[in-house]
Amino acid sequence: MKCLICKGEMEEKLITYDVRVEDQLMILKNVPALVCKQCGETLFTPETVDKIIAVAKGKVEPTTSLRVPVVEFGKVKVA
Ligand SMILES: [Zn+2]
Repeated sequence: MKCLICKGEMEEKLITYDVRVEDQLMILKNVPALVCKQCGETLFTPETVDKIIAVAKGKVEPTTSLRVPVVEFGKVKVA
């Protein structure tokens, strides 16, 4: 399959994909996707999209949790 954007070669990969459920960031690991070798355009199969939507609707229980540091950028000082 060719990339719709640049007509480059697409390869099947397992990627990490972020979705937000209201204010909660969720990280989906090992999501099957087609990724363009040239421009990085990512495509999902309709089945995968359905699964991502189920997660985004909060229907899926997370496997594990990570604590994610949050930085208020205005407070950042560099020496
Ligand atoms: Zn492309």
